[in-house]
Amino acid sequence: DSGQVLARQSRRESSARTYARSFPIVPVQASGLTITGADGRTYLDCLSGAGSLALGHNHPVVVNAIRKVLDDGAPLATLDLATPVKDAFVDTLFDLLPPNLKQNGRIHFCGPTGADAVEAALKLTQTSTGRRGVLAFTGAYHGMTAGALATTGNVAARQNVVTTGEVTQLPYPYAYRCPFGVGGDDTARLSAHYVRQLLQDPNGGVVPPAAMILEAVQGEGGVIPAPNEWMRAMRDITSQQGIPLIVDEVQTGVGRTGAFWAVDHSGVASDVLVLSKAIGGGLPLAVIVYDAALDGWAAGAHTGTFRGNQLAMAAGAATLRYVAEHRLDERAEKLGDWLVAELSTLPFETIGDVRGRGLMIGVEATDPAISQQVRAECLERGLIVELGGRDDAVVRLLPPLVMSDVEATSVLERLAAAWTAAER
Ligand code: PMP
Repeated sequence: DSGQVLARQSRRESSARTYARSFPIVPVQASGLTITGADGRTYLDCLSGAGSLALGHNHPVVVNAIRKVLDDGAPLATLDLATPVKDAFVDTLFDLLPPNLKQNGRIHFCGPTGADAVEAALKLTQTSTGRRGVLAFTGAYHGMTAGALATTGNVAARQNVVTTGEVTQLPYPYAYRCPFGVGGDDTARLSAHYVRQLLQDPNGGVVPPAAMILEAVQGEGGVIPAPNEWMRAMRDITSQQGIPLIVDEVQTGVGRTGAFWAVDHSGVASDVLVLSKAIGGGLPLAVIVYDAALDGWAAGAHTGTFRGNQLAMAAGAATLRYVAEHRLDERAEKLGDWLVAELSTLPFETIGDVRGRGLMIGVEATDPAISQQVRAECLERGLIVELGGRDDAVVRLLPPLVMSDVEATSVLERLAAAWTAAER
């Protein structure tokens, strides 16, 4: 039974596990938004594989795509060899890329996770510029491997580890608890001003770095959308200084934010896009797509065994096609706007800020004790939500883009009831 499974896991698995601590569930079945536990209870899943399930659990087009590869007897592990499955994935992805990369882009298949792709992006820009430093942002999350961790904002996560390169942390435009003590648009204006100064001032600036890396909407950092103006300012500043701009769309990609890519909101042409999570349809897949001008790699310069996951490519291509054909990006925008508007009217004193883009939504509590309690109360009511941001004060919603209106209403009702209970 679930109690025994959880106890065995606690005994044998590393104490670094996180999800199992917050959600003592033993999932045995799942479909769409719904997860069923071994004890028969069902949950609405607004975490969706940390944002990797754009179409929810076990969507038929994904399941069928995986089944077809198996039925065809195609090889499953193919290193970086050319295969029809890979060809179809690359073709589908390129059709959907932002214009600059669609035209001049190159793709590199990385190891299976988002962090692997971040490493590749950092290494590629260092190779092609011959420089080392990296500009990153407070609150950023790029993964748990050394280079990715070095560019992650969370200080505790970076402690006691060997990290590579020299990283300069810049202030991300987080208006609610603004690093400059202002708010609203002033936060983004000051951030842009600071970054521009830092890069232009020969007496107090930084040595020209290999890259700037940023998220257009920070996810783990607490669902913080960067204003479009700020995004364009970062592009202007980096272009002027000849610094490649890496945009990490591991979490924001594939319709999540109400546009197919988060950079589409601002129209910013990034030099490198880092992609993972939803592009594999829920299976492990990570790539970088970059301007061919950056390609200074010799054959074998960046390798790895698991870069040929055919099931992930098939599941990913099916997902990309489905999101594009059904305009789930527009659906995410509409549903997200509605949810943010409804959440903003909730009369709780301990809700400090409601924000989001598309179906990447955050409700920041004034006190982290409340957000912890809200997550627990949500689970009691059959709703899975995750926390993030400073002190884990932000309740995050990352539901599948296929969420129905009825499900969205139910999510809202359960969250409101949970918040009521948490404030008691
Ligand atoms: N970048 C971003 C923006 C992410 O949200 C994440 C994962 N949450 C990563 C990188 C790292 O991806 P992975 O966990 O697959 O290594």
